[in-house]
Amino acid sequence: MAETKSTCPYCGVGCGVIIQHDGARVIEVRGDPEHPANFGRLCTKGSTLHFTARPESRLLYPELRTSKGEARARVSWDVALDTAADKFASVIREHGPDAVGFYLSGQLLTEDYYVFNKLAKGLVATNNVDTNSRLCMSSAVAAYKQTLGADAPPCSYEDFDHSDCMLIAGANPAFAHPIAFRRIEAAKAARPDMKIIVVDPRRTDTAASADLHLAILPGTDIWLFNAMLHVLLWEGYVNMPWVREHTEGFEALRQVVRDVTPAVAAGICGVPADDIIKAAKWWGEAQAPLSLWCMGLNQSHHGTHNGTALIALSLALGKIGAPGCGPFSLTGQPNAMGGREVGGLSNLLSAHRDLANPAHRAEVAALWGIESVPEKPGYSAIELFEAVREGKVKALWIACTNPAHSMPQQALIREALEKCEFVVLQEAYANTETAPYADLQLPALTWAEKEGTVTNSERRITHVNAAIPGPGETRADWAIARDFALKLGEKLGQPDAARLFAYPTAESVFLEHAESTRGRDLDITGLSYTLLDERGPQQWPFAAGASEGATRLYADGKFETASGKAQFIVPATSLTSEAIDARYPLRMTTGRLRDQWHGMSRTGKAARLYSHVDEPRIDLNSSDLDRRSIADGDLVRVKSRRGSIVLRAHATEEVRPGHAFIAMHWGRNVLSSSGVNELTLNKVDPHSKQPELKHAAIQIEKI
Ligand code: SF4
Repeated sequence: MAETKSTCPYCGVGCGVIIQHDGARVIEVRGDPEHPANFGRLCTKGSTLHFTARPESRLLYPELRTSKGEARARVSWDVALDTAADKFASVIREHGPDAVGFYLSGQLLTEDYYVFNKLAKGLVATNNVDTNSRLCMSSAVAAYKQTLGADAPPCSYEDFDHSDCMLIAGANPAFAHPIAFRRIEAAKAARPDMKIIVVDPRRTDTAASADLHLAILPGTDIWLFNAMLHVLLWEGYVNMPWVREHTEGFEALRQVVRDVTPAVAAGICGVPADDIIKAAKWWGEAQAPLSLWCMGLNQSHHGTHNGTALIALSLALGKIGAPGCGPFSLTGQPNAMGGREVGGLSNLLSAHRDLANPAHRAEVAALWGIESVPEKPGYSAIELFEAVREGKVKALWIACTNPAHSMPQQALIREALEKCEFVVLQEAYANTETAPYADLQLPALTWAEKEGTVTNSERRITHVNAAIPGPGETRADWAIARDFALKLGEKLGQPDAARLFAYPTAESVFLEHAESTRGRDLDITGLSYTLLDERGPQQWPFAAGASEGATRLYADGKFETASGKAQFIVPATSLTSEAIDARYPLRMTTGRLRDQWHGMSRTGKAARLYSHVDEPRIDLNSSDLDRRSIADGDLVRVKSRRGSIVLRAHATEEVRPGHAFIAMHWGRNVLSSSGVNELTLNKVDPHSKQPELKHAAIQIEKI
């Protein structure tokens, strides 16, 4: 039996795996003991990966339909790509380059992302390329950029081993990042004096393990963080000499938080004032305070300011860049970081460059050897589907993601996909919720079958390898994008396409990407596949000539902002984008289960992963069930202002009275034709354009 090193394709912890295989099939998976993200450990999802690597349920051949309503039929790759190129070229010629769009995924490898971005921004000349990372990390990105000047998490997992006070907000790592959580548990066991504070409306497994659980009302995080800063000021914990030397904007924020007393915040957040004071004192007294956050903060219509308000707590103490200190976002997807590194959002360019910056556009044009990169911002994820619905975008290419499950306000997404003139779906799996809308489906390789790189939450890049060949006629995502680009170049009469997309291997794409980072904050000119294989996964920056990457950033108190100083931001003070009322009296939040991942296209294939939770359900406090004469296990219709779904009621004290929780994973199923995103709304954060997937007001009725 042969062994090949790769990473787990699920969460942003980015655990290393060793795939045991016979050259044709994956036989077993175990944790890679040499990988610094997990040192050999795997959670239930990672350790059952071999059960999911089966050809059944895979999309094996290109399939095309010639008119809407027809069934798709198998075609050759040549016919498939020729048809797609014809259609895209005719839309571009008739309506301009902004009439096409690309919607990608944080599950693509960095090389895949790079080629798609160059295809859109360098060949087609549109910035209409966005990804499901917009639904995941874009608020954290905006928060980092506003405060620290760059999209760069400053910490490492090893900071868990040094921190003496951990503030975990809007995250449930016990379920969503289990191996990271085990490291937190180990740190607590080794140093019982370490304080763990968890901010979450639910009593999750993470919250249950905390020294202090602040069960706040959804959408009130900023008030809590502002009140903690109020206490830090009042009690004299703020490191004013450091703040004066290394930051700007503190005075304006101080004016705002002056009135946000613990008593005021307690009334808004629904937690006792004494607990807010206790949390702030623990934070202020800590030698190494570390904050962790995830979707509970990001997926909000003020997600960016959730992040900036949390980061302010680290800056106020001057505790950043040292062991155990700082603000640390946990990435939701395996390679959302890598996608951003190559500019995989409609407002970004390669190597953390900004589309709005003319010098950055000129640099990318020079790197690619093209006249210019288009200036007009592209559509973000929600805007893209709205533009499709309005007929402004007529041809849409979707790769490695399932928007008919994962986007909010599903009714609008379905309408957009139905109206779109031409939908290409590049997928590893057949029969996703998005498949019925595809005019052309292209079969892609997936985990264990493809080569490239991924970057995890702590900026660590791993070279992943192909262990087995893909089934049927599946191809690598970057190669599909390259082959389409070559065809499209011919159709558009652009001889440059052959030069722009002359990539023989994934490594050739990586080397071009690495060169694009030269001199940037994430400079990885010192990395190559060979170095990553010989010395193992590395953190960026890792510039040419460096002997190792950076464990932490900003230790010198210099930041990536224009002034070199970190910025305090006066945050928004709005609450959730949808308030409860008499008709919709329950606060619904969404989140992950321990043993499922995203839309279950992979985890749903492993029977063992249903032993934790075996069907879709709505978690409610037993008092809310009693009040409505609903029994545990009854079927209920769950309604929001946008739609309804049917679920089984599950009584639990993890959820407070007046609250409800529905997992994000289940889509179409025996109980309902759609998942929780039938209920969510598409209100977005003005800075990050990230939608508020975490919360909606709902009602329930017994069926
Ligand atoms: Fe995979 Fe995340 Fe589990 Fe690690 S913690 S094995 S990356 S799902």
